[in-house]
Amino acid sequence: MGTATAAAAGTNWAKLRRRLGDRLVLPQDPGYDELRVPWNTIYAHRRPAAIARCVRPEDVQACLDFASHERIPVAARSGKHSYAAYSLPENGLVVDLAAMSAVAVSGTRARIGAGTQLLPVYEAIGAAGQALPAGTCRSVGISGLALGGGISVLGRKYGLTSDHLVSARIVTPDGCLRTASAHSEPDLYWALRGGGGGNFGIVTEFTFRTDPAPGLTVFKLVYPAGAAADALDAWQEWMAQAPDELWSNCTFESGTTSPTNIGGVYVGPEKDLLPLLDRMPAAPRTVQGMGYLETMRYYAGNPGPGFRFAASSRMLRHHVPGGRVADLMEEQRDGAILFDSFGGALARVAPDATAFPHRDARASAQIFFGAGDRTEAEARRVLAEVRDGLGAGNTGYVNYIDPEMPDWPTAYYGRNLARLRKVARRYDPDRVLAFPQGL
Ligand SMILES: Cc1cc2nc3c(=O)[nH]c(=O)nc-3n(C[C@H](O)[C@H](O)[C@H](O)COP(=O)(O)OP(=O)(O)OC[C@H]3O[C@@H](n4cnc5c(N)ncnc54)[C@H](O)[C@@H]3O)c2cc1C
Repeated sequence: MGTATAAAAGTNWAKLRRRLGDRLVLPQDPGYDELRVPWNTIYAHRRPAAIARCVRPEDVQACLDFASHERIPVAARSGKHSYAAYSLPENGLVVDLAAMSAVAVSGTRARIGAGTQLLPVYEAIGAAGQALPAGTCRSVGISGLALGGGISVLGRKYGLTSDHLVSARIVTPDGCLRTASAHSEPDLYWALRGGGGGNFGIVTEFTFRTDPAPGLTVFKLVYPAGAAADALDAWQEWMAQAPDELWSNCTFESGTTSPTNIGGVYVGPEKDLLPLLDRMPAAPRTVQGMGYLETMRYYAGNPGPGFRFAASSRMLRHHVPGGRVADLMEEQRDGAILFDSFGGALARVAPDATAFPHRDARASAQIFFGAGDRTEAEARRVLAEVRDGLGAGNTGYVNYIDPEMPDWPTAYYGRNLARLRKVARRYDPDRVLAFPQGL
């Protein structure tokens, strides 16, 4: 029996139950198994000692107080989408925030409960005629997304999700409920904008600055099988010259038989986008004007309850030859690299102005391989080969967290690492929130 298991076995759960009642779910309680399952089902075997369904900041305070006294692993959980399921600690306490999911929009401010998933965020903000740049996939949590940065289809025009953070209410491991903003706990505020979920404390509520919802045009170019390398080369050149209004991504599939899709969003009308599309090699295309909310719903997709996969990332600071990527991917199956364009407003923030260090990247590369019909070890071997074969140096995005990322602290945080560690030591000196890739 490991130390954590031993600690959890001797834990006085009755004490926490007195504070939370039946909102504390233990393995023998009804609903434990359904509540437990993470989005990446490679980790479906993981069994936390308890799941606390929090409804107010005081519940979160009770959980952190309890975990630090009982010396058991503890992690916040919002949207459950951590690639490595770091929100589901084996034999630990899951601080589940799903019920803290209210969104209130007033003028150009949106107050969002930490457990809110992206689709309800868009529905509420869009209904008020406002916009927030946040991620795709309806069930990703605003918490994990914003704390790691937040790459979006509007990122080149409006920046990262975290660039819009005005303040956060956060319970730190000493049990205090604090407000982090430019005027209050400024170091913590700095760290929460890109320092990654699971560090420093547990956020209970965010306030974001919003912008008036723009009119958008959504497009897709489809290049035939065999043209992937050329399409990727052309896409990189094209985006290097693009105006802020244009965001796009290039999906490079494994194998040699799939088409290559270049999709994207233009902030403005179709007539202004068409001359830009004409600069790309000719391809069948679709172009459609959409409102902000409609576009967010379109990108939110319908991804279902999750699946088995291994994923990682690199941040590209230079052109990556399409031929190199084709060589890496042609022998592989059940995987893809999603290249997302950076630049624009996102790049005009200094790399040390917030904790997010990758401001000078030209694109992020999100790499994933399914593990439906292969072992996790096989999927990870292929993943590592492709990740390291891209030749993009020791870089990565903390939100595409990879449990086997070489030298992960430098990869995720670059030159912001030392300052982030200082903030972590200050707010969590006893490492109550420790996890394998915690600061
Ligand atoms: C299908 C899919 C689509 C995605 N799309 C995008 C995208 O478009 N853009 C993008 O940037 N990223 C995207 N991501 C990555 C996503 O941002 C990260 O996986 C993120 O960590 C998920 O946050 P969560 O709240 O859903 O996950 P969780 O698993 O609940 O949490 C993730 C981490 O944050 C911690 N955490 C959770 N809540 C809190 C809190 N309230 N306070 C402090 N720490 C907390 C957890 O302990 C864990 O370490 C996507 C991921 C998936 C699986």
